[in-house]
Formats: sequence, C-alpha cells, structure tokens
Amino acid sequence: MAPMAQAAAAATCAAVSPSVSPTPLFRFGLLSDVQHADKDDGVSFHGTPRYYRYALQQLDRAVAAFQAADCSFCIHLGDLCDGHNSQMGECAATRLTHSEKALRSALAHFERFGKPTLHLLGNHCLYNHPREELNQRLGISDFQPDEVPHSYYSYQPVPGWRIIMLDGYDVSILGWPPGHPLREQAEQLLAEHNPNTDKNSSSGLEGVQRRFVKFGGGISAHQLTWLRGELAAAAAARQRVIVACHLVFYPGTAPNTCLLWNYEEVLQILQQHAGTVVGTLSGHSHSDHSALHKPSGIRHRVCKAVLETPPGRAQVEHSECYGIVEVFPDLVRINGVDTFASEEWPLPPLPAAPVRGRGVPADSRGSDARTAHDGIPAGLSAVKTAVEDPPPLLLGNCSSRDEYLPTDGPSTSALGNAYTTSSGEMPAASMSPQAVEDPPPLLLGNCSLGDDYLPTDGPSTSALGDAFTTSRG
Ligand SMILES: [Zn+2]
Repeated sequence: MAPMAQAAAAATCAAVSPSVSPTPLFRFGLLSDVQHADKDDGVSFHGTPRYYRYALQQLDRAVAAFQAADCSFCIHLGDLCDGHNSQMGECAATRLTHSEKALRSALAHFERFGKPTLHLLGNHCLYNHPREELNQRLGISDFQPDEVPHSYYSYQPVPGWRIIMLDGYDVSILGWPPGHPLREQAEQLLAEHNPNTDKNSSSGLEGVQRRFVKFGGGISAHQLTWLRGELAAAAAARQRVIVACHLVFYPGTAPNTCLLWNYEEVLQILQQHAGTVVGTLSGHSHSDHSALHKPSGIRHRVCKAVLETPPGRAQVEHSECYGIVEVFPDLVRINGVDTFASEEWPLPPLPAAPVRGRGVPADSRGSDARTAHDGIPAGLSAVKTAVEDPPPLLLGNCSSRDEYLPTDGPSTSALGNAYTTSSGEMPAASMSPQAVEDPPPLLLGNCSLGDDYLPTDGPSTSALGDAFTTSRG
C-alpha cells in the first residue's frame, strides 16, 4: 500500500473519538462521483474544475485507505465514468471504446479492495452503458437472487443493520429503450412539468419544479412497494437502516435540479420508519451538504465529488475526497478525509418492534422478497411540488458554493467553510460541519446543474457537449 494511503488511514483512525462502544459494529468506505475519463482536465458549466484522470488516482488511494481501515464494504454513490467517454470513440492503444476502457480502469480499483462494493446507477453511468450491462458489471445483480431487470437492492453487513440502495433512474429517459413503460412514464412527466424543448434545461422552472429535467429521474411504484417491504422487514427485525440513492432526497441539500422527482413520496415512506431509518446518502450534486429532518431524526447527507477534487494544493501533495464511516449502536460517524466533510449522526431510540399483523404490509417479505419486474408504469403516483416539511436544519457547508448560491433567497455566507482547513502534508480527517441555528428555508430555486447532463438518445450532442465543459488544454 502506498505510504500516503497508510497515512490517510492512520489520520482517519487517529481522529476517531471515543463513543459508547470503543469498537464500531462495522466500518465502510464512502465516496461519490469518480466520473473518470481518459481526458484532459476541464471545467463544469459553472467553471468548477474537473480532473477526469486524477479521479482515478484518488480512487486508488481511497480504496487502499478502506483496506487499511478494515472496512467491510464500501459504497460508491454513482457516476463512476463520465458521459464524455461515450463521445470519445475508440482508444487507439487498447482498441476498446473509451466507455469500456474507463469502466474497466475504475472497476479494477474496486476489485483490488477485495470486499463488496455497493454501486448505484448515476446518469453518467447510463450515458455509457446499458442498464442491464451495468447491473452485471457493477455487481448490482450479485445482490439479487433472481434475474430481475432493475437496479435497486439491499445489503445487510451485520445482523442489526441494512443498507438500502435505491435506483433514482427507475422512472427515467435514461437507460430504457424507446417504448419501455418506465421511459414513457418519464416522458409524460417531463412533458407535463417542463415546457422546454430541451428537457435537459430547467430554464423557466421555479423552486423544486426544477427537478424535472432529463438528467433526473424517479422511483417507480414497484420500487416503492419493494422499499416499503424492506423497511417493514427491518422494523420487524429491529434493524437500523441507511438509504442511498444517486439523486438527492431532501430540498436544501443540493440544487433543486438534483432532487428525485418524487422525493416527497420517498421521504414520507422513510419518515414513517423514524428510528429505523437513520439517514440517507446521495451524490450527483458534487458538493457536501447535510440536513436533519427534526421530527423524524433522519439525516440527509449529500457527498462531494471525487471528480472535482484537485490534485494537491499549497503544502498538500495530494487531495483526498472520501470518508470512512464507523457505525456504533448509538452513533454513525462519517470520518471525512481531507476535503470530504465529517459529521456525526447521534441515533434516536430504536422503535419497538411492530405488533404482529400491524404496520407490516402484506407484500412485505424482506430483502428476499424480489419478484421479476413487471414493467407496470404505475410509479410516481403522487408527484407534488410543494415542500411541506419543516425547514431543514442545515449542517453542512457547500464547498462549491458558486454552484449553489441562490439569487432569490437568503445569503448562505453564514454556512462558512468549516471543513476546508486541512493544511499539513498528510490528509487529515476534516472538521465536523457546524450546525446553523434556526436557518430560514433554503430553497435553491435558481441553481442549475447544467454541467451534469449529456443526452444519449438525441441525434447530436456536440452543441450540449460544448456547453457543459470547456477543455483547459
Ligand atoms: Zn449524476
């Protein structure tokens, strides 16, 4: 293992403070949006630098640190390879397509980890490869005992815990062939909610309506039923649950274009299992942010992108962007390394097991309850636009606030930059984000994420391609 990786792991472990239990129940590695391509550095639509090749070096060190910290698995929150690969044709040296080359390169690092990696499908994944191929190549199908053409699953690392991995592109234009019921449902929703000719544009949409863009998606009725069953089974077994999705669950933790189309419906289900569900993890927006939904005690964490972490800076040879998560009976602690924000989730009391015959849906059969996807386009049954939850308690800090700043809301300057102060030679666990007292609702209605889309089914992508990135070369 590289000395730097050893140091990173050591720094992480050294930063661990005592808890009720001195030894965590388990540890797992956490990172998001590697978005690798064998491509010169560029910038996003908003000018944020992107390091397509360096992302792979960061992944290498992160995986080594996961091994050194004895993580029993790791989670990558989606967008493993950048959509540009799909436009780069064949690599002359390898005779592979760049999409294939990038995927092989990235997966090789996870294979060296030697433990399970829980992958999520991101929009960039689907720009490069068909959904069913990704299910196989990313190991998603390994967690599904039967042959099912969907991309959500669950994993139980230890008896008392369950990780639920949702597919935010279940109802989507992306990854389904023309005529597929879930694609047609997505087309209908976009037609209803987004009047722009280019459905990747959120121009003219206000507030949370901005989520209805082509590079977004939603959770189907079939997946919601499965989710309810998973949570009921977890509650019956008195398990704790962490729920992950590439797209974002909670308004205020990312630009509204990053929200799940039916985030309210999903939140309502999660909040019905307060205490069982302790938190959510998301990627896609590329910046760290976190919020607490006070009534349920559920934490919502959005994670910074590896792709946009620079290769070193003053007095720091290499930058890092990953977390090592330690799970205790009463606490989840995200130990962020270097630019990745740390935070702690004190856990609310575990609810009593539901009375037999009450609170457990008839279709609940736990994680083994997987049936063939019937393709019925009944999902997104209650897409709403109003935000009815209390304002989120914002805990995180935007490291790329240039992509966040609302033009119609309060200043976010009070959020500060509590975790960007690492300065030694070695990466160190970053500081915990500070709570902001009584914040006003932060609806980032004018934010856009025009840098994150890449159509796959249009005739030509060159105009958009020029719009969302600019080569620095
Ligand atoms: Zn994404």
